Amino acid sequence: MNHTKRSGTPVKRSLKVALVYLLVGGLWILFSDAAVERVVSDPEMLTRLQTWKGWAFVAFTGGVLYLVMLRQFQNDRVMLDRQLGQQEEIRRLSQFQQSVIDNANIWINVLDPDGRVLIWNRAAEEISGYSSDAVTGSDTVWEKLYPDPDYRAWVLERVSRIMAGDEEAEGLETTIATGHNGNRTIAWNSRSFLDAAGRTAGSIAIGMDVTEPRAAESTLKARERQLRTIMDNLPGMAYRCLYDEYWTMKFISSGCRDLTGYEPDELIDNRHLPWVDLMFADESDAVSSAVDDAIAAAEPFSVEYRLRRANGDIIWVWERGRAVEDDGGMVLEGIILDVTERKQLESRLSEMATLDPLTGQFNRRETDRILQEEVTRAERYGRKLAILWVDLDHFKDVNDSRGHAVGDEVLRSISLRLADSIRTVDTLGRFGGEEFIVVLPEMSVDEAWDVAERLRVRVADEPIRVSDGDPLTLTISIGVAVYPDHAESAEGLCNMADKAMYQAKDQGRNRTMVFSQVAGTIESDKSGEA
Ligand code: GH3
Ligand code: MG
Ligand code: MG
Repeated sequence: MNHTKRSGTPVKRSLKVALVYLLVGGLWILFSDAAVERVVSDPEMLTRLQTWKGWAFVAFTGGVLYLVMLRQFQNDRVMLDRQLGQQEEIRRLSQFQQSVIDNANIWINVLDPDGRVLIWNRAAEEISGYSSDAVTGSDTVWEKLYPDPDYRAWVLERVSRIMAGDEEAEGLETTIATGHNGNRTIAWNSRSFLDAAGRTAGSIAIGMDVTEPRAAESTLKARERQLRTIMDNLPGMAYRCLYDEYWTMKFISSGCRDLTGYEPDELIDNRHLPWVDLMFADESDAVSSAVDDAIAAAEPFSVEYRLRRANGDIIWVWERGRAVEDDGGMVLEGIILDVTERKQLESRLSEMATLDPLTGQFNRRETDRILQEEVTRAERYGRKLAILWVDLDHFKDVNDSRGHAVGDEVLRSISLRLADSIRTVDTLGRFGGEEFIVVLPEMSVDEAWDVAERLRVRVADEPIRVSDGDPLTLTISIGVAVYPDHAESAEGLCNMADKAMYQAKDQGRNRTMVFSQVAGTIESDKSGEA
């Protein structure tokens, strides 16, 4: 092409050569004829010379023509070879491009300005389920990919904006209907391109099938939503906190409002109102060490403690959680439930199990248990232990004369008086009917005797006020037995004390008797009130 430009068009070039030839030929004929005629006069000779002259001209021009054509044909040959080489190179290059496009594991398609498909690579075929043959050169692909007219209109609107160069799609996602695989979500990267003249020549789009990751994301989101719903509807409060001395909260579910009376935000990351401040100082250490132990054993922890609500109420909570690694640090996760009602019920039940409902003192079972414990302790430490067996005198008469209700009142009143007259380490229990037991750890016979006498005198001296009728005065008889002097078992002690009490009754009541080793005899009777 450059060669042609430099030397004019082929027609001009040929005309130039022909003109030069005519000029040279004409001049040759003109001058050579004149020269020959001047030298030669013989007409026969002249004719022969002119013939040779003609032959010589033809031979000369033939030679020149030969050389010119030879050069031209050689040039043509070189040009042709070069062209063939270039063509081969271009063919290889486009083959390479095609193979890159085809083998790219990514959807590549090229559209012409009217939205017709020019290139549809193998990944596009595989993902869409439509072969290149089926879509190339037509715009029917849009109906195939986007059967819903409204959605299709929206997509085409975006495509036309991209085609116009108004926008580049980056991360635009569409859902296509494939020919073989249901709906797929494709993330697009698309822009228009121009031809040499600067006009829009089409658009190229690269698509990635993001169906699986999007599905996973949406499952994750759905699960998150579910979890949040569950958490918000938990009967307690779900939390996540730092494993520090403040229990610095990082997440608190909305159950916090009901549980504590605080908004979750008030307790999250708040150094001025950390969770530990809602707890009781004397309990938080025990709770922390229980949590430490569980974490050290790589086990979940489960603790119960009291909590101060925003309105000042005290509630019991049960907390179960575990330690988890989080961003290299350690956090605790778990739930906290209000167990106040259960706690109250539990304590009522345990009271019911250990206390006598009429007097509020320990019942027989609990008294037995305590006595057993005290005997074991006395045995271990080599100490003494006394018990008093107390029986009301002529109590049946109270029931008979004043009624059973007054009898009950008297029982309550006397039990309070007894309980009031002993140390905190001592134990008062109702053994049944109108019989009580007092357990006195670390007391010798004489000391126990003194206590018994104090009780006896106090009951006898103070009239008992009852709601119905006059106050009444009652007396008690007390039997004393001491470990290890009289017996070495709880049962033996009870037996001995009971026997001593009967001796007191025999001796006329309102007195204290100490069991004597010599069966049937009374060691002492210091009541002086026989
Ligand atoms: P003593 O001096 O010999 O002990 O005479 P007493 O009348 O106390 O005789 P006893 O110990 O045999 O009688 C016990 C009475 O206590 C019998 C029963 O009516 C009465 N009693 C037992 N339990 C209760 C009770 O829970 N409430 C009332 N009101 N009376 C009870
Ligand atoms: Mg009795
Ligand atoms: Mg009695």
